[in-house]
Formats: sequence, structure tokens, C-alpha cells
Amino acid sequence: MYLIVGSGLAGCVLAERIANVLKKEVLIVEKRDHIAGNIYDFKDGEGIYIHKYGPHAFHTNDKKVWIYLCQFTSWYPYFHKVRAIVDGLEIPLPFNLNALYKAFPPGLASKLETKLIDTFGYNVKIPILKLKEFDDKELQFLSNYIYEKVFLGYTLKQWGLTPENLYSSVTARVPVYISRDDRYFQDKYQGIPEDGYTGVIEKMLDNPRIRVELNTDFRDVKDSVKFEKLVYTGCIDEFFDFRFGALSYRSLDFNFKSYDKEFFQSVAQINYPENYDYTRITEYKHFLDTESKKTTVAYEYPQEYKTGDNDPYYPVPNDENSSIYMKYKEEAEKLKDVTFIGRLAEYKYYNMDQIISRALKTFEESFYE
Ligand code: FAD
Ligand code: UDP
Repeated sequence: MYLIVGSGLAGCVLAERIANVLKKEVLIVEKRDHIAGNIYDFKDGEGIYIHKYGPHAFHTNDKKVWIYLCQFTSWYPYFHKVRAIVDGLEIPLPFNLNALYKAFPPGLASKLETKLIDTFGYNVKIPILKLKEFDDKELQFLSNYIYEKVFLGYTLKQWGLTPENLYSSVTARVPVYISRDDRYFQDKYQGIPEDGYTGVIEKMLDNPRIRVELNTDFRDVKDSVKFEKLVYTGCIDEFFDFRFGALSYRSLDFNFKSYDKEFFQSVAQINYPENYDYTRITEYKHFLDTESKKTTVAYEYPQEYKTGDNDPYYPVPNDENSSIYMKYKEEAEKLKDVTFIGRLAEYKYYNMDQIISRALKTFEESFYE
């Protein structure tokens, strides 16, 4: 029997492969009272799918991942659109040529547009920390503006750190985009599962060889359950009883509110880099274009993760945490019968498609006997 700790995407893809391909028994232990980890969603009274742990938009260029998921869902075609409130104006994110014209008077916007295209070309993405390095008066003006108005306040709220105190890959997730494309992602395959993300996970687990025990913490059962192999998707530092010190994670608090009107905002996600203590407001009905008289939104408040008080959502990518993580990784590699996989166990800022790709690859490389 294979024991899997955690019923998030990583654990469930492996459970599905082990049960359907290897035809082995799987027990999943999950400490929460539901399956699906952070992609868990549910339908509210208005028929709107609410993503309990924050807005989830699926996107990938990986055809293998897309085809794999198509076994478990049909897709509602959806391109994620995000806007930021800057100086009281709603501008597209990533900051692009359309944002230039929203933020600045036409003459200045046009000058900056020409400068950007002449310097970098069209349809090019530049991380903000790269743009800030250019020694040019106009580019300095623009990069300082975007840095101050879009990145600094948001990053301080989200991570409690400045962009410089995180790996540059974090802010590079939302590069300045020299384009008129207002979509958050440009991947070939994008969409929302028509029966929700939890529906995808339910289908993955729909096999009599897979058993799920909810409200069960691995730490409470590890000495009593017998297993051939263990797949662990929880926090790696917790697995090793924090012997090299605690890794930092960021957590979130969601304040859900329903309004007695059809729409609250123009798109699914609006970011507030400069104002308020929350980072963003998500209006869920936009994901599947659900028709309803009322609407539900979530205000997202980042906070420090404290074991036992809240849930870990994000690893904090910087040198300090990487050096602690490497010590745990070394220990993990000594345990031949344990696979550490997922956002918490590998301490990596993975998107959904990256997790699926990791799990499929891990299965192919390590689980065939
Ligand atoms: P998790 O979903 O965290 O699953 C781990 C599971 O293990 C949890 O259910 C946990 O309860 C359980 N567990 C932990 N420890 C124990 C224990 N000791 N005993 C028993 N159970 C345990 N990705 C995208 O591609 N697009 C997006 O738009 C997107 N938006 C996101 C927004 C937010 C706010 C967040 C936090 C993430 C977002 N992601 C997005 C990323 C996506 O959620 C993750 O890639 C994915 O959920 C990670 O799956 P996982 O299985 O590694 O981890
Ligand atoms: N970011 C920012 N302002 C924004 C959007 C993003 O400063 O309006 C930075 C911030 O550091 C954030 C990172 O870019 O944590 C990655 O953003 P993304 O939208 O990918 O975050 P996620 O959806 O994973 O929380």
C-alpha cells in the first residue's frame, strides 16, 4: 500500500497514477476536512464556484499536462484579466502599452511607447528589476513609476519584504509587457474546469483502490499505518521536526463578502498595490461567467505563516530560505522510500501545471518497478 500525505494536486495526481497504472492500493491522509488542497472550490447559493484559497486560473504551454487534465474535465475558455488600481485609475496588469496610455497623458505615453519599442522591440517581456537597471532618463522615469506604484507596496504587503529581498523570479512572474495584450498569461492552453477544480480532483480519485482519510494529520498516524512507500506533500521542515530551523511561508486570510448586485468589479481580479491592507479582490463569477443577481468577492490579506494558527500557501524564495531548504533536501534524498513532492515539500513557487508535470515525471521515473 502507498501512503500519500496531502490531497492537493501533487498527491492526487500520484494517487491517480499509482491506482490506475500500477493498480496498487493507495491511502491518502489529509489534515483538512476536504480534498483538493489549495485548489479546493465549491458552489455557493448563487451557483458561483468560490475558490476557497484564492483565485485559480489554469494556464500552460505543456501539451502533455493539458491532455492529461482533459481526462478529468471539460474546459470553459477563459483568459485571466487582472487590473491594478494606480492613482485611483484602473490599469491593466501586467503593465503594458495600454497601461501607459491609461496612466500618462497621450504625448508622454506615446514618447515612452516609442522608447520601449525602439529599445526592446515589440511583444517583449521585461521584468521590472531588469528595466530598473537601464541607464536612460525616460526608462528610469518609467521603471521607477511602475516599481513604486505597482510592485513595491504590493510586494511589501504580500511578502513583508521588498522585491530586492526576494529572488527576482518572484516579481518577474508579472513582467512589463511591450504589447497591447491585456491577458495575465499568454500560454497556449488556458481555461477553468467546468465542474470546478474539486470536480477534477474527485474524478482523479474515483477508483476503488484509492481511500481518503480526511481530518487526519500524518504526524498522528505515522507510527500506526503500514506502507510500502510514502509520498509526502506537506511542509518539508515539519517532516524533519524543524531540525535545521523553520522555513518561512506566507499565509493569507480571505474575507468573503456577498453583495446584492450583479457585478462588483470589471474583471475577476483587481490588485491594490498602493491602497488598503489587502492585496487584491477577486470576484468569482467572472471565471465561469456565472449568471446571478448577487455576487461574491474575497478580500485577500497576506500574513506570516504560524504553525498551528493558519495554513502555509507560499514558500518565500530567497537565499536565507534556500540554504535551509538545501539541508532538508539532503536529508530527504537519503530516504529512498519517501517521495517529497509539491509546493510545500519541495519549497518551490509552483503553478498548477508545474505541479502536474512534476508529478507525472516523478511517477514515470520513480514508480515503475
Ligand atoms: P497543496 O495544495 O498545498 O496540498 C498539500 C496538502 O497536504 C494540503 O491539502 C494540506 O492540508 C495537506 N497536508 C499538509 N501537511 C499534512 C499533514 N501533516 N498531514 C496530512 N495532510 C497534510 N496556480 C496556477 O497555476 N494558477 C493560479 O492562478 C494559481 N493561483 C494561486 C493562488 C493562490 C492564493 C495560491 C496559494 C496558489 C495559487 N496557485 C495557482 C498554485 C496552486 O495552488 C498550487 O500549485 C497547487 O495547489 C499546489 O499543490 P500541492 O499539492 O503541491 O499543495
Ligand atoms: N506583484 C506586484 N504587484 C502586482 C502583482 C504582482 O508587486 O500588482 C508581484 C508581487 O511580488 C507578487 C509577485 O509579483 O507576489 C507575483 O505575482 P502573482 O500574481 O504571480 O502572484 P500569485 O497569484 O502567485 O499570488
